Amino acid sequence: MLTIAVSKGRIFEDALPLLAEAGIKPLDDPKKSRKLILNTTREDVRLVIIRATDVPTFVEYGAADLGIAGKDVLLEHGAENLYEPLDLGIAGCRLMTAAPVGAPDISGRIRVATKYVKTAQKYFADQGIQAEIIKLYGSMELAPLVGLADCIVDLVDTGNTLKANGLEARDLITNITSRLVVNKASMKMKHHAIQTLLGQFENTLSER
Ligand code: AMP
Repeated sequence: MLTIAVSKGRIFEDALPLLAEAGIKPLDDPKKSRKLILNTTREDVRLVIIRATDVPTFVEYGAADLGIAGKDVLLEHGAENLYEPLDLGIAGCRLMTAAPVGAPDISGRIRVATKYVKTAQKYFADQGIQAEIIKLYGSMELAPLVGLADCIVDLVDTGNTLKANGLEARDLITNITSRLVVNKASMKMKHHAIQTLLGQFENTLSER
């Protein structure tokens, strides 16, 4: 049995066609079902539906053999205890700084609201900018509007969310796509099954 951890939402939707090419289709409609374990058209493969930020944890501990996670989550979590053999090229977006439209750059110490604390800390340190990082779990865009922070670090896709809140993207920290991650022990113990699946994903990706 292979267990694949994946989060609901954009990553799952973008992953479904890739999984389908490998013969893996959930037996329940993930949009309607509240089940956290979905059996699939392949008897040897099941999906576990978890929060995006929990995917590396499940895979690291071997609760899932494989996972599909955004590079943003992997950067923040630290992926030393996982293999990351494949960039799936799905759920693409950018990790960026953003500030109120027209706001001047601040020269001294800045306050930054984000859920990507470690990634932001490293980014501003590398830039030689003194930053106080304020951890938030959501609605980052609100922080500069109410004086909680000077800027934010968040994912940007179309830019519509920033625009709707009077913010503008500033600096690109890194481009983001979703990656396939694999538990290290599973890679050894279930080598054949995992390599076959990897090959199927690679074939599909090379045809795109
Ligand atoms: P947008 O308005 O299209 O720029 O999307 C920005 C919002 O969607 C932000 O709240 C992001 O956190 C979220 N978002 C955008 N792309 C992704 C992605 N690939 N994975 C997860 N969240 C995303």
